[in-house]
Amino acid sequence: MKEFEYVAPKTVEETLSLLSQYKEEAKIIAGGQSMLVVMRQGLLAPEYVIDIKNLSGLDYITYDEREGLKMGALTTHRAIEKSPIIQRRFRALSEMETTLATIQTRNWGTIGGNLCHGDPAGDPALVLIALNATLKLKSLSGERSVAMEKFSKDMLEVDLRPDEMLLEIHVPIPKPRTGTAHEKLMMMHGDAGIVGAAVSIILSSKDGMCEDARIAISNVAPTPWRAREAEKRLIGKAINDGLLAEAGRVASEEVEPTSDVHASVEYRKEMVKVFVKRAGRRAMERAKQG
Ligand SMILES: Cc1cc2nc3c(=O)[nH]c(=O)nc-3n(C[C@H](O)[C@H](O)[C@H](O)COP(=O)(O)OP(=O)(O)OC[C@H]3O[C@@H](n4cnc5c(N)ncnc54)[C@H](O)[C@@H]3O)c2cc1C
Repeated sequence: MKEFEYVAPKTVEETLSLLSQYKEEAKIIAGGQSMLVVMRQGLLAPEYVIDIKNLSGLDYITYDEREGLKMGALTTHRAIEKSPIIQRRFRALSEMETTLATIQTRNWGTIGGNLCHGDPAGDPALVLIALNATLKLKSLSGERSVAMEKFSKDMLEVDLRPDEMLLEIHVPIPKPRTGTAHEKLMMMHGDAGIVGAAVSIILSSKDGMCEDARIAISNVAPTPWRAREAEKRLIGKAINDGLLAEAGRVASEEVEPTSDVHASVEYRKEMVKVFVKRAGRRAMERAKQG
């Protein structure tokens, strides 16, 4: 690994000053779970590594009925998994975390680091897209908000300027009769998903038809994939198993996976059918419950 200078600011403002000063020469490190891997592989060789793990004020989970859920960028996966309010109000998010890596990685890795790493196999982005989340980014010149589904730009590339950092993830309150679920295909529990799917379904309170649907799929494109064509098959209809199977089939036609040691293109496409349907069925059961 190339030598670098290590800096450990104490505040967000100090971090932003360092990012503004060093720009492309610097890289943030939070839990280091992904960052150290890419540095060791030589994919990144920053001159300055800015350690934010001990910054105060970015490790929090808050919730209220008006504002929804807010998670600081330094919140660990384990904290999200174990949060009573997330288990109660955003069950798909805590369930997803139980399948992400091992407890050791979840104890140290942060939600911010996961999203900023921009891995198309990542799980949290899927659920956050299904939940219509937004991200708050900050630089010395101000703050901006980006929809989770627009944040990933390419393989390991996100919409983050060199002088910006991620501060917070915001999940709005779901409408009544919304159900969300996440499912992923793993060789062993906690493995990165060969394919993953998160589905959110909103049922109309008048007639029980599908009012809106959001489907996000991992590992089938350079970024998390929003399966808009598949969503269209559900919206305005009475959802049943046949329709969910149809949505899975359409999603598998939309995606453009590559093959690797874990799965061929054909197998991934088949699994998209299965996992969209499976997550859709659980989302539907939850939407019916309320
Ligand atoms: C063994 C193993 C198994 C894994 N399995 C899974 C899995 O099943 N599913 C899954 O989704 N993930 C998985 N991961 C990935 C893991 O979730 C991430 O490595 C972890 O969440 C990254 O968080 P971190 O705090 O360690 O980030 P770091 O590694 O420190 O940083 C990652 C990237 O984010 C940037 N960054 C971090 N925080 C910020 C911020 N606040 N603002 C701007 N940029 C920032 C860094 O510059 C870097 O580019 C696995 C990782 C390991 C090591």
